[in-house]
Amino acid sequence: MSAVQLQQIRKTFGGMEVLKGVDIEVADHEFLVFVGPSGCGKSTLLRTIAGLERVDSGSVMIGGEDVTELEPSQRGVAMVFQSYALYPHMSVYENIAFGLRMLKLPRDEIERRVRRAADILQIGQLLERRPRALSGGQRQRVAIGRAIVREPKVFLFDEPLSNLDAALRVQMRLELIKLHKQLNATMIYVTHDQTEAMTMADRIVVLNHGKVEQIGSPLELYRNPRNRFVAGFIGSPK
Ligand code: ADP
Ligand code: MG
Repeated sequence: MSAVQLQQIRKTFGGMEVLKGVDIEVADHEFLVFVGPSGCGKSTLLRTIAGLERVDSGSVMIGGEDVTELEPSQRGVAMVFQSYALYPHMSVYENIAFGLRMLKLPRDEIERRVRRAADILQIGQLLERRPRALSGGQRQRVAIGRAIVREPKVFLFDEPLSNLDAALRVQMRLELIKLHKQLNATMIYVTHDQTEAMTMADRIVVLNHGKVEQIGSPLELYRNPRNRFVAGFIGSPK
């Protein structure tokens, strides 16, 4: 069974068709990357999986269940954004625990999950701090921690590293790959950065103007780009 299945997803904003019939199947435990130029519809597509955007037509299946009409909280997904959106007045612990309190989980279960996420992300010593006392990389780890504690079936990342400097970006890429292995989770990751896509993905979805140009492993796309756009974007010699 596939982790996520998108069938003929269409979305229009104010008369402009932003997603033009997108079909994608994401395998269980896959690290799938959506890549494409700015404005091509990557974030919108990710948000339709999260349920933050309703589709005009088409369907979204998660773990074999049709979730097209379900609210974000009912979909078993957790999203990490580019802007970390941490609460400045709360400690790291409270930031990570916040979503679980909303779900009314018992206190000791919340604590267990927060400590485990903090261990995985190596931020256990930062739990009492406020976000303003953290570096950019540490903030991003907190944002990822908020997703981990929800124990989602599918993680959704929207350009999570684009606010970090180049060296940290490279380091966090490696950490996210490690996290993917460790959690054995399905991850869908949006970026406009070809290098990021080529180094992180099991498979890449190349999007352009709201359509899928090609789906394949980094090597497949590099060796056999379907057209000039993919070749140019992936940087292969065609
Ligand atoms: P990407 O993430 O690939 O840069 P987006 O999915 O954010 O692209 O946007 C795709 C297109 O849809 C853009 O032209 C953008 O301006 C438009 N768009 C996205 N969200 C909205 C919205 N809420 N209202 C109107 N237009 C939007
Ligand atoms: Mg975007």
